[in-house]
Amino acid sequence: MARVGTISTPHGEIQTPTFIPVGTKATVKSVLPEAMRELGSQAILANAYHLYLQPGPDILDEAGGVAKFMNWNGPTVTDSGGFQVLSLGVGFKKVLAMNADTFRADDVIADNKERLAHVDDEGVTFKSHLDGSMHRFTPEISMQIQHKIGADIMFAFDECTTLHNTRGYQKKALARTHAWAIRCLDEHKRLTELRHNKPYQALFGVIQGAQYEDLRRQAAQELGAMESSGIQFDGFGIGGALDKDSLGTIVKWVNEELPVNKPKHLLGIGAPEDLFVGVENGIDTFDCVLASRIARTSAVYTMQGRFNVSNGPHRREFIPIDENCDCYTCQNYTRAYLNHLFRAKEMAAATLATIHNERFIVRLVDQMRAALMDGTFQELKKEFLGRYQHKSGQATD
Ligand SMILES: [Zn+2]
Repeated sequence: MARVGTISTPHGEIQTPTFIPVGTKATVKSVLPEAMRELGSQAILANAYHLYLQPGPDILDEAGGVAKFMNWNGPTVTDSGGFQVLSLGVGFKKVLAMNADTFRADDVIADNKERLAHVDDEGVTFKSHLDGSMHRFTPEISMQIQHKIGADIMFAFDECTTLHNTRGYQKKALARTHAWAIRCLDEHKRLTELRHNKPYQALFGVIQGAQYEDLRRQAAQELGAMESSGIQFDGFGIGGALDKDSLGTIVKWVNEELPVNKPKHLLGIGAPEDLFVGVENGIDTFDCVLASRIARTSAVYTMQGRFNVSNGPHRREFIPIDENCDCYTCQNYTRAYLNHLFRAKEMAAATLATIHNERFIVRLVDQMRAALMDGTFQELKKEFLGRYQHKSGQATD
């Protein structure tokens, strides 16, 4: 189901498949937008929840939108805030492909437990992770926030469940997500007309349904055909609970049902082996915090696997992180220097490691795109995964 394509936005084109780095609070931590452009990032994804709390959507609106605000000369994306309001403080991992056994049961919906988020049919009430103040998101509020943030691509507000929620709860959450999807389309239509002088913002629906084939297919059919206020979704995100082992199967079910001519985004997935699985099953765009988050802990990618550059053995290695990498860091700095920066707790450590990891992931998906056009995708996959897993011995996160 793999494919190549182009997504056109008011701020430029996105050649797909591609990886979209995450700039949670309108910045990719420790790296300037100029460097993100230079390393090949075609777009940046920011989080509506974080920008809502700080600096607030009105500031972004007054600035002329998130791209202009952060001096990013290209397309931008925001998520709906749904994942963050439900996950922060309740033990969700921020990377959504995971092994089922690493997950605590009923994190979100357990009763009799201090929770930071409460879901009802109208929306979600949650506590700010910054100051403990109470807030409420509804589909309408999420749309209003995302319109003010002004990204080219937005996501509908959905309820994100976990793998351990019961099937009964998954069904209930799915019905709620679909009712919210209609409300998002209605509010999006209203705001698009109200703000007709602003660049067009596309709205993607989010497919939930956890690990259940019938629920995933049903969700994809319903959202794929959904129409309200005379409009449909411009594309789709595949979200929620995704067991790493069944990632490809779930993506395949969904993409067999969704309209072929619209973009498909896999939310929160970014480990190298998962990217191959996603592309293979028809995903056009990815976003993930993994590359930058692990960089700040000194974990760096190479074609042979991941390693921690701050570990002892690298102290006297006067060679790049990866001999085959064309990033700014590998062109100019050694493992020994990064080892020193991390041990000395210097800020440049995060900057240099993040530039390398983001380049590595962006380039990997670029290579998949080129391989799809050459008809050599399977060779690339086999070659990469053979080498990557062989040496690292741990390819999962
Ligand atoms: Zn590099």
